Amino acid sequence: TATVAGVPVDTRHWIGGERIASAATSATASASTATSAATATFTDHSPIDGTPLAEIARGGADEARAAVGAARDAFPGWAATPPGERARLLHAVADGVEARIEDLAVVETADNGALLRSHRRGVMPRVVHNLRHFADRLLALAHDDFETRGHTNHVSWDPAGPAVLITPWNAPLMLASWKIAPALAAGNTVVLKPAEWTPLTASLFADIAHEAGLPAGVLNVVQGYGAEVGEALVADPDVRRISFTGSVPTARRIAATAGAHLVPCSFELGGKSPLLVFADADPQLAADLAVEQFDNAGQVCLAATRILVEESVRDVFLGHVLDRVAKLTQGDPRDEATDVGPNIHPRHVERVDGFVRRALDAGAKAVTGGGRNTELTERGGNYYLPTLLTDVAQDSEIVQEEVFGPVLTLQTFPDGDEDEAVRLANDTRFGLAATLATGDRERAARVGARLVAGTVWVNCFFVRDLSAPFGGSRASGIGREGGDWSFDFYCDLKNTVTAPKGWAPHG
Ligand code: NAD
Repeated sequence: TATVAGVPVDTRHWIGGERIASAATSATASASTATSAATATFTDHSPIDGTPLAEIARGGADEARAAVGAARDAFPGWAATPPGERARLLHAVADGVEARIEDLAVVETADNGALLRSHRRGVMPRVVHNLRHFADRLLALAHDDFETRGHTNHVSWDPAGPAVLITPWNAPLMLASWKIAPALAAGNTVVLKPAEWTPLTASLFADIAHEAGLPAGVLNVVQGYGAEVGEALVADPDVRRISFTGSVPTARRIAATAGAHLVPCSFELGGKSPLLVFADADPQLAADLAVEQFDNAGQVCLAATRILVEESVRDVFLGHVLDRVAKLTQGDPRDEATDVGPNIHPRHVERVDGFVRRALDAGAKAVTGGGRNTELTERGGNYYLPTLLTDVAQDSEIVQEEVFGPVLTLQTFPDGDEDEAVRLANDTRFGLAATLATGDRERAARVGARLVAGTVWVNCFFVRDLSAPFGGSRASGIGREGGDWSFDFYCDLKNTVTAPKGWAPHG
């Protein structure tokens, strides 16, 4: 057990209702791609100042097998648990999360560096909401029976079996709970593998679920590297669903392995979403929307990182944006006054900076930012300045690839040329989201209909109702989460057809 921000966190795996450490050889024996490790733990650091937070059990093939086995063994009992009881238990877990919002918030901030005030007031309450939403939705799940030549069709959602849930570091517990809640509500058992840079709140969540009375083996948490325990989980023949949020290259590997077993996958991947600013937009609102993209230090899959502005309002718009950026406070995410915190890891900052250096070398201009925040970086954290680049070419790397840091590009389209705006907006391999700033309702409908995106926001950003479908087109993902779409994914749908006079004995 480690103590992080004053909160004790068990750093072992949670498998079959027990805390389990990794054997020293387990992780390294598991995957051919694994590098050798002297012990079966890894060190988790804080992005705020680089301090080591905890030694985390490092899972491999043995832990993956044990966790999937526990989920498989617990499945028949959980699947047979009446929906009302499953919903009651999920509400009990939600109560437990609600009671520990402060602990979860301070630990998550120490671990991933996102703002403490957002964790306290936005993210952790949202975790509670995720659990309650899918618990309630389960009880409302229904298709009206319908008839075919007097026969009755009755559709039911049968839970598919053990589900592996693999999540990234940018919103650890929040993204895990989007998956855990519908998977468990639907009657599946789960194995969660949190990202290696941010494993801590998943472990606290396991404690909370246990205390709330979730039976052993229904929720399992294994920690470790993707190439080790992640690959072993995905390859396990007892897994019936894989839900993954993360990067495109990892999704490709997972899909290849899952394909061999024909296991359905849900993929929520990266983005390079546009923010289209038309001349008829409210200029203040448009600038607010642009600056919102620096939230979570730019580590948001949905972030509208490509600003496309109508030529005639470019300079006024840019002026408003620069005024706002100048007022942003970058610093320790635990301070209420901080607007932009650190990025997750020194290696990640290096990657972000590489994108910016190459763009500048190719002729881009940084109208603000363009490098590390040297003062904060000297104190040990991973801080990158909010950056806005102009003079970027549509086919350049900085416009086409996801940076996943506080880096935006600004391009223009000719006045009145909606076609060109749409062309630029759609011209990447991604299709996660798009945001429009316009004062014209008809334009919003016309342009929105032509955009390739799982979500289109008009004069707003990041509003997400859990009953709405969420996901990406093209390289941004496969499938949709939210509402009944989540249940469709985690279940094997069944149609039962009953004959009109099927009950009388024949003859
Ligand atoms: P990543 O793909 O490197 O890692 C994500 C998870 O996959 C981690 O838990 C990691 O350990 C695991 N993993 C890595 N290799 C694996 C393998 N071979 N087999 C099984 N598991 C493996 O992604 P990341 O850097 O942690 O996350 C950032 C990415 O996530 C960005 O591209 C971002 O856009 C995306 N993201 C998407 C959404 C969405 O909803 N669309 C939300 C948040 C983040």
